Amino acid sequence: MMIFSEKAPAKINLTLDVLHKREDGYHELEMVMTSIDLADRIDLMETDDGQIHMDSTSGLVPLDERNLAFRAASLIRERFGIRQGVRIFIHKKIPVAAGLAGGSSDAAATLRGLNRMWKLGLKPEELVELGAELGSDVPYCVRMGTALAKGRGEILRPLPPPPPCWVVLAKPPHGVSTADIFRRLDIGRISSRPDTEGMIDALSRSDYPAVCRLLGNVLEEVTLEMFPEVRRLKERIRRYGADGVLMSGSGPTVFGLVDRESRARRIVNALRGFCRQVFAVRMLGVPEGATAHGG
Ligand code: ATP
Repeated sequence: MMIFSEKAPAKINLTLDVLHKREDGYHELEMVMTSIDLADRIDLMETDDGQIHMDSTSGLVPLDERNLAFRAASLIRERFGIRQGVRIFIHKKIPVAAGLAGGSSDAAATLRGLNRMWKLGLKPEELVELGAELGSDVPYCVRMGTALAKGRGEILRPLPPPPPCWVVLAKPPHGVSTADIFRRLDIGRISSRPDTEGMIDALSRSDYPAVCRLLGNVLEEVTLEMFPEVRRLKERIRRYGADGVLMSGSGPTVFGLVDRESRARRIVNALRGFCRQVFAVRMLGVPEGATAHGG
């Protein structure tokens, strides 16, 4: 029995801007995102019962059509008239409801993996289009790496990877609902917006101090207002010596950029007393390819 494995890396936002609300009700977004070396693994196995089965190492993710990976498999089966079923196993490493696009990355990995398993021959652009039907971070997660995402997230432009550095992540115990944060965002009252062009420039010059200085996310003020402990966590990471600090996505995970591993480890140790889920990982400049192995 062949197992098709795909790595599903988490992302962080280097910038996140909400330009306006569109007539179709969606928000017009502008986000610079980059993959980090913290990843789930998706294992796919064909079944002949025409059903989608799911299992996971985590008790926190739903195992039915509420799971984005399940929806990715449904979409592919329906769109291409596939009779076979699939067993999806999610080895969960990415914290859930964290602002790290865990569910979106699992869905994107499922699209990539099923494209191989069922030999659909879909080009990356076609997988991006399918991803856009599932959620606004899924198109980016199909391509991974570093990219500018615009529109609802489906307009992608690849960017040079950030300068090599370490990312210290701290995930407060509670989750955050992305829909809730967007509902509370008052676009007319955003007090400061990220300099997206400046960030793109900093990436093309591989200018680490500028990348740290230009980190910005308009959802931060909404989430920090709701959860003062997230603000305190952010201040703490900066105080412990990170070069730049930001909340990722709609939160509540906050991250700090650090230029040396020894310093990243020191910050992680200092944070342990305040937060249970703390990681230090590398940026993932160019994501690793997928693997298929017999079993
Ligand atoms: P984003 O940054 O894209 O908003 P997130 O990292 O904030 O995503 P997820 O981990 O994707 O959030 O989870 C958000 C919700 O989606 C969870 O409450 C969970 O119930 C549901 N969910 C659906 N599929 C998955 C999945 N494969 N992994 C984790 N959560 C999932």
